[in-house]
Amino acid sequence: MTNSTNSTAIELKGLTFRYPSGRTALNDVICSISDGERVALVGPSGAGKSTLLMHLNGLLPAASVVNEGDAQVFIKSQPVTKGRLREVRRQIGFLFQDPDDQLFCPTVREDVAFGPLNLGLDQDEILNRVNCSLLAVGMPEHGLRNPSQLSTGERKRVCLAGVFACEPAILVLDEPTSNLDPRARRQLLEILRTFPGTQIIATHDLDFALELCQRVLVLDGGQLKADGPVEQVLANSSLMDRHGLEVPWRLRRTQ
Ligand code: ADP
Repeated sequence: MTNSTNSTAIELKGLTFRYPSGRTALNDVICSISDGERVALVGPSGAGKSTLLMHLNGLLPAASVVNEGDAQVFIKSQPVTKGRLREVRRQIGFLFQDPDDQLFCPTVREDVAFGPLNLGLDQDEILNRVNCSLLAVGMPEHGLRNPSQLSTGERKRVCLAGVFACEPAILVLDEPTSNLDPRARRQLLEILRTFPGTQIIATHDLDFALELCQRVLVLDGGQLKADGPVEQVLANSSLMDRHGLEVPWRLRRTQ
């Protein structure tokens, strides 16, 4: 599991990160995620979840300053370094917590086409990807709407369509269920279940983690505190308690 092979999607080799303020947000995180795994990243606020996700496509450290020999993050066996950012980012689809950080075009179709356009694809391919992606998120009839006039759940699905349109190998999601009502949350769950690639999902929604993921990482104080099968880890009430988390309702009922 810990060796870099072709089947390793994400590998963290002692990831340590300190913000310029001096705050250590990640401390020697070691972990390997295989192709096709769906992994939840949980922990209390301030645990370092967002900081970890931002390292996966080189959003941190700032301005891609990492040199080849210093890499602590590997995506599909490639080090996330300043010389390889472009290749690495082609592999990663990042869904931000707030859809407004991701949507800025006057129509849904233009937003979904933005990534494929940047990849330099031809018009027919872009058209095809936009249509397929809108279909995959259940929004084929919304292409000409203004994203600002959609609900939060719909805006999240448009963001996801934009991510899908780039055909990434790995999805990185930061709090995907925040501000979603139960129906929108359910729709998102079904869509993510159809994505065949690797997923890493930072979430406070442990029921969502339980329904979507096979494996969970517990982060607290920038350190990896647990890594294992989702039902086993989330059912461990003393572990959950120690890290400011609660055993999901479903696992509590069956105990
Ligand atoms: P989480 O996503 O688990 O809530 P974060 O990754 O946002 O945690 O934060 C981890 C730690 O880093 C926290 O102590 C937080 O206060 C700190 N932190 C986050 N962003 C910054 C920043 N831009 N500058 C300084 N410290 C930060």
